[in-house]
Amino acid sequence: MRVLKFGGTSVGSVEGLLNIKKIVSESEDQLIVVVSALSGVTNTLVEMTRMATAGDTGYEAMLPDLVKRHEDIINSVVPRESRLSCMKVVNTFVNESLTGSLGMLIANESLTPEWHDAIADAIVSHGEILSSAIVSLMLKNSKPHFAPAFIHTTDDDEGRVVDWDSTERHVLKEFVGDMTRVHVVQGFIAADSQTGVKTTLGRGGSDYTAAILAAILRADALEIWTDVDGFYDSDPRTHPEARLIERMTYEQAQRLCDNGAKVIYPPTIAPVAMRGIDVWVKNTFNLDAPGTLIAGHN
Ligand code: ADP
Ligand code: ASP
Ligand code: MG
Repeated sequence: MRVLKFGGTSVGSVEGLLNIKKIVSESEDQLIVVVSALSGVTNTLVEMTRMATAGDTGYEAMLPDLVKRHEDIINSVVPRESRLSCMKVVNTFVNESLTGSLGMLIANESLTPEWHDAIADAIVSHGEILSSAIVSLMLKNSKPHFAPAFIHTTDDDEGRVVDWDSTERHVLKEFVGDMTRVHVVQGFIAADSQTGVKTTLGRGGSDYTAAILAAILRADALEIWTDVDGFYDSDPRTHPEARLIERMTYEQAQRLCDNGAKVIYPPTIAPVAMRGIDVWVKNTFNLDAPGTLIAGHN
């Protein structure tokens, strides 16, 4: 079994999504496909949250564009027979659930900071809920899952952390013995293990969701599919001289991530390193590129 995580640019364009379909259909392994929100959508949801918190209803004018962005994609990648139900999911989540949550923030002075943050997390969760609906309907016969049912967080002295006991128990219950070949899971979104209130794993956290699943389910590999050919010695977008690293150790990867290499969210490495699971960084837009292998030894 392999865990494949597709980032925002991969799920945010027709080309990326069609390549995801190709990658999944060419594999015979059991796969867990973890998806981010469409590129830019989490930022939009964060901005809407800021506006609603400030009492600015201007976010309402942004909602039709959000629906349209998803509908355009649905029309290009979702099989004809599933399009209507996919559009319905998008419309319901945006016009009822998202609009309702944003409305709770408007001029609500009685909100405690804790409740404000819980509503903000519920708002940003919509990005992954919408993208996962598209990906699961695009990948026929795949099984959709709801990450907050098994990715659980708790609060300790350091702030919000993964509740590994609860997460392990629930992940095993969700996946062990299920022989479905392709599973689809939202990255980034989680729930508090005590209260069930929605939480997130932090910006860029979809990589971490994938690593948590790979570690608990002892996956054969974790694949981080993104928009560059692999892990470079510096950001290839800002450093044209950056060199691709074909193979690196977990320690080297951790060091680069801690120093700001945003290609992998820093907490991702530890759980897979602990179990010796190979991590590949690969390009959804260049399927021939071999990518970078992160493993125990160089
Ligand atoms: P995704 O949406 O797929 O999670 P991210 O934007 O989070 O993608 O990460 C991919 C980006 O990370 C690349 O587009 C690249 O600009 C940036 N990046 C920064 N440092 C590195 C690095 N050392 N190697 C590769 N990419 C890097
Ligand atoms: N969608 C979330 C973000 O933009 C999580 C992720 O993409 O990994 O931060
Ligand atoms: Mg990322």
